[in-house]
Amino acid sequence: MWPQRVTATVDLSALRHNLQRVREYAPASRVMGALKADAYGHGMVAVARALDDGLDAYAVACLEEAEAIRAAGCRTPCVLLEGPLHPQEIETIAARGEPVVLHADWQLQALRTLRCATPLPVWIKLDTGMNRLGFRPDQARRLAQAVSANPALKLLGWMTHLANADAAESAGTQAQLTRFFAATDGLPGARTIANSAGLMAYPQARVDWVRPGIMLYGASPLEGHTASQDGLLPTMRVESRLIAMRDVPAGEAVGYGSEWVCAEPTRVGVIAMGYGDGYPRHARSGTPVQVRGQTVALIGRVSMDMITVDLRNCPQAQVGDTAVLWGGGLPVESVAEHAGTIAYDLFCGLTNRVHYHYE
Ligand code: PLP
Repeated sequence: MWPQRVTATVDLSALRHNLQRVREYAPASRVMGALKADAYGHGMVAVARALDDGLDAYAVACLEEAEAIRAAGCRTPCVLLEGPLHPQEIETIAARGEPVVLHADWQLQALRTLRCATPLPVWIKLDTGMNRLGFRPDQARRLAQAVSANPALKLLGWMTHLANADAAESAGTQAQLTRFFAATDGLPGARTIANSAGLMAYPQARVDWVRPGIMLYGASPLEGHTASQDGLLPTMRVESRLIAMRDVPAGEAVGYGSEWVCAEPTRVGVIAMGYGDGYPRHARSGTPVQVRGQTVALIGRVSMDMITVDLRNCPQAQVGDTAVLWGGGLPVESVAEHAGTIAYDLFCGLTNRVHYHYE
């Protein structure tokens, strides 16, 4: 059989190792793992199956994601992070019994007419500084009353989301924590604050529940860190092949726009992975790629189906060699940084031309 063109190999034991790291950071917390967006591009059903007996809940963005997880036979509850997206969805969600996050008054209003045999479990989201989703913290007491007055609802607890936990010692994070604890003081229900960065960097944020995403997938959430520095194992390895090589004379340019000009005679390698596969279009010249285990530099613009690399420091390279685009020994964080983006974006950006393998 011919080798597949671009592959993403997902290491499920690394995923479980990373969950273990979460448990080490927050041994007293329950863990709601973020599986939304196809488990950050890792394949939601495969990840859900691998973590079904390890997580206390999955966090998903919408009902379709929860339904796909259920259809795969997984039993862990799926928390719908954006709640019902429109009133027509409420009956279906209530029938499924998946917990929802309520963040807006229209949702509470729409739930007033809900009739269901088993109360719908709800988290209430407070906006403590992200200014995206959530109720104002000074509404918490009113909301607790509104939920307890509705027999169709059961209050699970209180959620907030941190805007700057990836930055060390952020004053904004301290302010969010203070607002959240003040707003929920004495109220019934559990609390959840921390994403990966929050649970790693802010011990006060390790409360009843934590909500890691990116650290499960083996990328560091902390600015300037790589996974290995944080004891995480890379979960995804993206590979392709060297499909052509040419010796380009000094003064000639490589690729669209002729932006990269050879300062000296240069052996240029062509790798079958481009933005049509999810390689970041804005990766700069110098972005690391590995050929035969040797780090070489991307040169010229990223094309739809190909990238070009400088093979001057890899004279042993041959057409057919494996090229690693990220993962394995090549930190995804470093590739992301050269592309002016974050690991989340690279993971989620892989397209359906990529073949997935699980090991
Ligand atoms: N909680 C919420 C509400 C989120 O939206 C996300 C992801 O965006 C997470 C937790 C997980 O975040 P991270 O992947 O940074 O750990």
